[in-house]
Amino acid sequence: MSYICPLCNGLVVPEQACPHCLQGLSECGKLDDYTGPYSPYELQASSDMADETKSVCNHLMYCHHCQTSIVQPVSLWDLSGNL
Ligand SMILES: [Zn+2]
Ligand SMILES: [Zn+2]
Repeated sequence: MSYICPLCNGLVVPEQACPHCLQGLSECGKLDDYTGPYSPYELQASSDMADETKSVCNHLMYCHHCQTSIVQPVSLWDLSGNL
């Protein structure tokens, strides 16, 4: 079983728009890199996607326009079937 995050590996380009101003969000890396004293917005998707938490890579997206940061869960790709 080999799961990779397409966003971490540069296989996809994040095209998430800011929910507030609809500007393009900047991808700021994995949320894992931000664990610690600074925890951005709570994982809104974690409650109804509890079973999916292992198969997503949470990325922190930031809007430079209105200084909003959101967490974008990225579904991992299963490479075991493709290789
Ligand atoms: Zn990732
Ligand atoms: Zn914005």
